[in-house]
Amino acid sequence: MGPSNNQRSYIVVGAGVFGTSTALHLITRFPGVSVTLVDRDNWDAIRRVAASWDWNKVVRADYRDPAYCALALAAQDVWRADPLWRPFYRESGVYWISRTGFARDVLDNYARLGRPTDGRLYALPVAEARKRYAGVFDGADYTGVESVLVNTTSGWADAKGALRAITERAVQLGVKFVTAEIAALEFDAEGGCVGVRTTGGEIYTAEHTILSTGAFTPKLLENVAESTGKDDFRAGDRIIAAGVTTGLAQLDDETAKEFAQMPVCIQENPVERGASNGTLPLNEDNMLKWWGQYIFKNTQTIAGRQISAPPAASDYAQWAVPDALVQDVEFANKATFGKRGEAWKVTQHRICWDAVTPSEDFIISPHPASKGLYIATCGSFHGWKFFPIIGDYVVRMLESTLEPDLQSRWAWDREIPDPSRNTVWPKKELKDFQ
Ligand SMILES: Cc1cc2nc3c(=O)[nH]c(=O)nc-3n(C[C@H](O)[C@H](O)[C@H](O)COP(=O)(O)OP(=O)(O)OC[C@H]3O[C@@H](n4cnc5c(N)ncnc54)[C@H](O)[C@@H]3O)c2cc1C
Repeated sequence: MGPSNNQRSYIVVGAGVFGTSTALHLITRFPGVSVTLVDRDNWDAIRRVAASWDWNKVVRADYRDPAYCALALAAQDVWRADPLWRPFYRESGVYWISRTGFARDVLDNYARLGRPTDGRLYALPVAEARKRYAGVFDGADYTGVESVLVNTTSGWADAKGALRAITERAVQLGVKFVTAEIAALEFDAEGGCVGVRTTGGEIYTAEHTILSTGAFTPKLLENVAESTGKDDFRAGDRIIAAGVTTGLAQLDDETAKEFAQMPVCIQENPVERGASNGTLPLNEDNMLKWWGQYIFKNTQTIAGRQISAPPAASDYAQWAVPDALVQDVEFANKATFGKRGEAWKVTQHRICWDAVTPSEDFIISPHPASKGLYIATCGSFHGWKFFPIIGDYVVRMLESTLEPDLQSRWAWDREIPDPSRNTVWPKKELKDFQ
């Protein structure tokens, strides 16, 4: 028999969507357990380094991979129906300018999963698509595009709002939130992980330590490998820290009216053209957000090895955006709105860092180097939408009840594919833009 609920203890490092969802699901499933959620940024800080902290994120089930399509449909069901999540979800629709046969694959997935589309998911020839949504995308770049996929059952969510509210709920239910940076892991005499040590020297102990540390994960593990002398901790080729640039423009009231009903717009590109770029609809402050198409790493020497990690500053230097990346966001604006967007002033540029795997699959797995240590992160630029449900899968992993296909898909040790055809795998360095 395992320990009773009030003897179980968990430390979750990282209060992004993976860590916060895990904490919420743990405390909900096992009331009375000890769950400590640790993050270097306070949960209500005005600005945070988490990729999960953002003005808004796309919530869509349009996936080429049927497994993530099914998972995203399950997440969307919660976003739509659950009173805890619903206030943050906006079903604006998503307009996919696709160049890779993506429309067909998504339609096939919905059919295969038996998900009725009720005429709300369809592909349109470009000439027809240009007229949709009052023609807001008539000036977009349609080079090489045969059809546009419209999914009116997809949309976006208020990312900061949801992250804050869910953390508050977890704390109300008994999760302890600690604001501290974790410098090291603690081990018992057999090498089992028994907790964490902060940069201030404080030690927190627990039976289970879960790292949901996003882009910082490879650096943290590298430091653990260095201090323990155990190479097995290293992430190696499994995870890379990668950045993407975003920017926002405030529209005046008159212009905002014209764009009030617009959906998310994504330019989905083949590998030769780069990654996707796109725009999210107006938030309550009438701001549009874009993400650029360059994805880059930041290779540096850590513990004597070449590792990609966010810049060392406590805010990951995320607001210091080089000119060339500011231009990358301009490019996204032009590709989406053409001449219509020329007069808009794009501000608040940010480099957002995420942990990416070569297959874009998450890692939700025990770490084989140490009993009691687990990894639950690697959103690979698409993890946010799973916020309502991903913690449930982490709990299943902890309980050894994760379905075998997901267990192998998300394992620490799995086949690593060649990422050269993967559009989100970073091919450039941040310094190439400086
Ligand atoms: C520009 C951009 C756009 C995206 N758009 C979408 C989208 O539209 N839809 C979607 O589904 N996904 C999207 N994603 C992906 C999604 O945001 C991420 O996959 C997801 O948020 C990652 O969550 P996480 O919990 O793993 O990491 P994070 O959210 O980065 O959280 C990690 C946390 O760990 C903390 N931490 C790290 N190291 C330590 C330490 N040593 N001590 C203490 N705390 C530490 C950090 O402070 C941080 O809060 C996007 C990502 C980016 C960058």
